[in-house]
Amino acid sequence: MGLEIITFVLGPLQNNTYLLRDSASDQCAVIDPSFDTIEVIDAIEKQQLSLQMILLTHAHFDHIYGVGELTARFPAAAVGLHPADLPLWRQGGGSELFGLKYTPPALPTIHFYNQQQLTLGSEKLEVKHTPGHSRGHVIFHYAPDKIIFCGDLIFQGNIGRTDLPGGSSRELMHSIQMQVLTLPPETRLFSGHGPVTTVGREMETNPYLA
Ligand SMILES: [Zn+2]
Ligand SMILES: [Zn+2]
Repeated sequence: MGLEIITFVLGPLQNNTYLLRDSASDQCAVIDPSFDTIEVIDAIEKQQLSLQMILLTHAHFDHIYGVGELTARFPAAAVGLHPADLPLWRQGGGSELFGLKYTPPALPTIHFYNQQQLTLGSEKLEVKHTPGHSRGHVIFHYAPDKIIFCGDLIFQGNIGRTDLPGGSSRELMHSIQMQVLTLPPETRLFSGHGPVTTVGREMETNPYLA
């Protein structure tokens, strides 16, 4: 029982794309599909899973690049994003700042809000709004296993950049303090880039939280 997490490290920015599988129902969700999404599609098809939702921590292009490929292959999957990141989505996720051109597919149909409960099969995830890296950045809390999927809010030994449009270092620090550091220290952080860490480890060793 529970949620199984399969991690893919994809593309030139080493994005972590997470495939969540509810073992009781074979329903699945994908968090932040990045480049080379064909690997995720293959895994979903091999295990004969039913893709319910594509959950986006924020709309930077490297976290949404694979949405079009996934929805083309699995048209019934709903796409979720916080509405405050819709302008970023419409602008291609800031891809032009990196010399790329990306046009996202149809608009997201799930509009995230703080404390929203998402259901995947028999499991529940809670959305927490964590602005600072972008205006509509969210994280997903899976309380039964003490896990958060935290996108570009915080990393092992680092925090999200705030120099891109919509960024605010004051808001980022507030989001980390209120939504991450209030969790039990053994809570594991599955970030948008880099290895898994814990709340306790970051409290003790992250130089940006000193
Ligand atoms: Zn980002
Ligand atoms: Zn990122």
